[in-house]
Amino acid sequence: MKIQTKIAIQFSLIVGSLLAIFSFVIYQLFAEFREQEYYDRLKSKAITTAQLLIKVDEIDRDLLKIIDKNTLTALVDEKVLVFDQQNKLFYSSLDDHVIHYGNDLLNRVRKEKYVETSDDENEVVGLLYELNGQNYIILASAYDKFGHSKMANLRDILYSGLVIGILITVLLGIFFAGNALGPVNQFISQISTITANNLRERLDERHGKDEIGQLAAAFNKMMYRLEQSFELQKSFVSHASHELRTPLAALKSEVEISLDEKLSVAQHRGILENIRKDINRLIALSNSLLQIVRPLKSSINSAAEVRIDDVVFQAQDDLLLSKPEYRISVEYAKEPENEKHITVLGDEPLLKTVFTNLISNACKYSANHQALVIINFNETHTLVSVQDEGIGIPAEDLTAIFEPFYRSKNALTISGFGVGLSVCKRIVELHKGKIHVDSQLQHGSKFLVELPHIS
Ligand code: ADP
Repeated sequence: MKIQTKIAIQFSLIVGSLLAIFSFVIYQLFAEFREQEYYDRLKSKAITTAQLLIKVDEIDRDLLKIIDKNTLTALVDEKVLVFDQQNKLFYSSLDDHVIHYGNDLLNRVRKEKYVETSDDENEVVGLLYELNGQNYIILASAYDKFGHSKMANLRDILYSGLVIGILITVLLGIFFAGNALGPVNQFISQISTITANNLRERLDERHGKDEIGQLAAAFNKMMYRLEQSFELQKSFVSHASHELRTPLAALKSEVEISLDEKLSVAQHRGILENIRKDINRLIALSNSLLQIVRPLKSSINSAAEVRIDDVVFQAQDDLLLSKPEYRISVEYAKEPENEKHITVLGDEPLLKTVFTNLISNACKYSANHQALVIINFNETHTLVSVQDEGIGIPAEDLTAIFEPFYRSKNALTISGFGVGLSVCKRIVELHKGKIHVDSQLQHGSKFLVELPHIS
């Protein structure tokens, strides 16, 4: 069901129920008021009759009947009965109407002194009247014709008011719900036109004043992030295919040369050597591409406590195994008395990737192949710096080197794909940490990793 219809129905139900309750309460209060007023009139009628009949001896009963019938205050279907001490009928007004009574009612009147009850549609009042030591019972009954017709009128007015009120509420509900949700319908039609080709489309934020404006602003922000990541992926794919094409093209021409031309065994050997180099480059590239994808898949859900110095030493061992010419020194800036200061919550293999990349870069981009790793900590973070005395990074590239596939001009003669640092940054951020670089051309670089420790 559409929200517009839902809101209209709920609004109509609420207002309709309130109107119905209100009408019912008015009708009920008015009914009680009419009944009470009529009982009061019957009571005074009963008292007047009793006073005339019992107190004023001169009035005989037939005369009283005529007076009763013809007074201006005579009620519709009026009937008055008077009973003496022994419940014997002592007086009855004109006999055109009947009061149904029994000894039960008379005894109840004697006991309670005043009783209000009803007989079919007629109201009945029973009254104990005491005079000269004698107890008389007076029963007065009549039909409240005007009261009942007023009630019928009121009922009609309330019914039609209720029906008209509900109709107006339904129409207003549809109108207001449509008005409030109009911009949402506009969003829906705008959003349905957005495809991968027009990710730049933005919704009208209506100056962000109301919730709909805020929703549009939030959606636009999401679209911006999507656009960014889409662009990043596009550039990743184009860079990756470019990087793959170069060694593949080299492989192809080397294979063609060895097939087409008559070559000596030594020349064949030379070509096979080149092929091996290109294959190694392809393996290194596919490893780098995997590095990019891994941190995306991994999440810190599987986080464990990891000692950062252990990870650094593992990275050092691994690197020295594959590149024995590297010189890697690891030092502590100060002795970690509490191991929690150098322990972080995270994914050990991912953290090892960070330090392997940084130390490997430091050795790779310095003529002396030396790297100095210093482990330190402060109140909140474990700090690891990786420094070298190598070629350095141009100042204008200090931010760009963290972008995938970006390589500084001064590094192009040294092998690499420009992937490692972007991976490091992503992993460090995944651990809620930060990575900074400080560098001077020809003098060396210093990378600093800050990771929140567990203490
Ligand atoms: P790669 O080293 O494979 O090119 P990285 O992402 O690790 O990829 O590094 C990106 C770029 O940052 C490098 O190409 C290089 O220009 C620069 N760089 C990184 N580390 C250093 C370093 N220690 N010294 C000088 N330049 C560096």
